[in-house]
Amino acid sequence: MPMRIDILTTFPEMFSPEPPGALGLSIPSRARSAGLVDWHAHNLRDWTADKRQKTDDRPFGGGPGMVMMCQPIWDAFGAVEALDQRPVRRVYMTPQGRLLDQPLVEELSKEQRLVILAGHYEGVDERVIEKLAPLEVSVGDYVLSGGELGALVLIDAVIRLLPGALGDGASAHQDSFGTIPTIDPTGDPINPKIAAQLGISPEARLLDCPHYTRPRVWEGVEVPEVLLSGDHGAVARWRLEQMLARTRDRRPDLLG
Ligand code: SAH
Repeated sequence: MPMRIDILTTFPEMFSPEPPGALGLSIPSRARSAGLVDWHAHNLRDWTADKRQKTDDRPFGGGPGMVMMCQPIWDAFGAVEALDQRPVRRVYMTPQGRLLDQPLVEELSKEQRLVILAGHYEGVDERVIEKLAPLEVSVGDYVLSGGELGALVLIDAVIRLLPGALGDGASAHQDSFGTIPTIDPTGDPINPKIAAQLGISPEARLLDCPHYTRPRVWEGVEVPEVLLSGDHGAVARWRLEQMLARTRDRRPDLLG
């Protein structure tokens, strides 16, 4: 059964499964066609009580901006969660949440259902957040106009980890922040041995190595010789060395 993701938003068109929607192209679109995932964006206005379909109101205590009201959000969660019997993980996109990183993406990719609330304006009435008790997730220490772009980032990152979403099963491991691939691209269980020799722990999350493709010489610059050698062990070792060097250089924090 495909993983099901529901998004509660006032801008559901941002989640169109058709091109040029961000999720209507490339890996997310293929994963959806392959039946690995499905997502539905719901307009919070559909759960408003008044005729003008207001989802926000002025803040108590004064000040600029608008605050999203409790009732449409609460009713929307109730209705949307009832669309499927599987257990739901509730997510609220907010700059005050847990920073989205690859371990969190991995955790969320194991859920059967996500219901994601994207706020807008000044934010959401605190009482409905307290009552829903969602996982609060931030995509970085900056403020967006709305949670939609953050939700798109989260959904894209989750989808590419679903088994079968990427052509090559090992390639999510090979990306930055993945754990060391246990099998190299040729199918040899060679990397853990080399990783151990280089003193890299199996749990380490490193940046990816540099990549090259044809032509062999471009603007006078050759691709690294080892990649042309056909020696899989040497290639695997070179790649891990590069990953380690890059991580030391650019993100020593990842090495602890
Ligand atoms: N006043 C709020 C920010 C409101 S921004 C504050 O300072 O905390 C409006 C909406 O955009 C938020 O409700 C949230 O859903 C979304 N948003 C903004 N920045 C975000 C971020 N870094 N990560 C996730 N969601 C974000």
